[in-house]
Amino acid sequence: MTAIRTVGVVGAGQMGNGIAHVTALAGYDVIMTDISEAALKAGMETIERNMARQVSREMITLEDMQSALKRVRTSTSVKAQEAADLVIEAATEQREIKEQIFRTLSEIVPAHTFLATNTSSISITRLASVTDRPERFIGLHFMNPVPLMKLVEVIRGLNTNQETYEAAIAYTRAIGKTTTNAEDYPAFIVNRILMPMINEAVYTLYEGVGSVHSIDTAMKLGANHPMGPLQLADFIGLDTCLSIMQVLHDGLADTKYRPCPLLVKFVEAGWLGRKSGKGFYDYSGDEPVPSR
Ligand code: NAD
Repeated sequence: MTAIRTVGVVGAGQMGNGIAHVTALAGYDVIMTDISEAALKAGMETIERNMARQVSREMITLEDMQSALKRVRTSTSVKAQEAADLVIEAATEQREIKEQIFRTLSEIVPAHTFLATNTSSISITRLASVTDRPERFIGLHFMNPVPLMKLVEVIRGLNTNQETYEAAIAYTRAIGKTTTNAEDYPAFIVNRILMPMINEAVYTLYEGVGSVHSIDTAMKLGANHPMGPLQLADFIGLDTCLSIMQVLHDGLADTKYRPCPLLVKFVEAGWLGRKSGKGFYDYSGDEPVPSR
């Protein structure tokens, strides 16, 4: 069985830097790449800030933090991934972008390297099919924020072999996560259930049933959800939410998954949620306030 020592992460955004964070703390060497230098810089700053918070809460020691940070290398060249035993892709939720990344990785990484995707919704089998090693390809769907959330959904494509599955399970255990298995159907388990609820919350706003505040308060206090659905949508990223709804709509061909036009409009406006400073809430002040 191939030992995993070095883990590559492609994409340094909300998810990529979280995956790099937990992987480095677990003792792996990490290579984090992104097409954007600014994203790599912001990603490393986020890792440092989040680890410092863990130190102040005595969840890890300062030495843990310092040695973990030393284990993370960054590069704007995907070629840096040639040293990885496992590469986890966590780039923007668009099939063409991910396929291009995997085509390139296939040419770069050694034959033993496992390939994984953190996609929220796109077919694992389809992404695997563009690589030279569909049997060494798997879905590892982390939850946001990665350092705090316990779950990783593990999704085997049609060709994923047992060695890859076992290596993926060993890695997720080593980083302290719990796994569930999901079959390779649009949006797997978590987002198949979560995203239609978020989309319905947007429809509730769109149809004027309630205000942003009313909808989130209703679900927090009435259904005991830790975050309201619109707050959660902003947290996930509205572009990611829309992409997942489109995959559900296309993949299951059922009108119940049609993305709410208001969600489409927000994404068209560049209102992507917390990461862009504005979504259902405006994050420019001290406290988030409903944006309209
Ligand atoms: P994000 O927008 O925060 O980050 C995406 C990053 O990918 C950006 O830094 C961007 O520069 C980079 N990127 C784009 N094209 C690239 C390329 N060709 N090569 C390398 N890097 C590239 O998005 P995110 O929220 O981190 O989501 C990333 C992935 O994780 C998506 O597939 C998403 O569906 C999935 N995911 C997201 C969440 C969530 O709650 N946000 C949860 C689970 C999984």
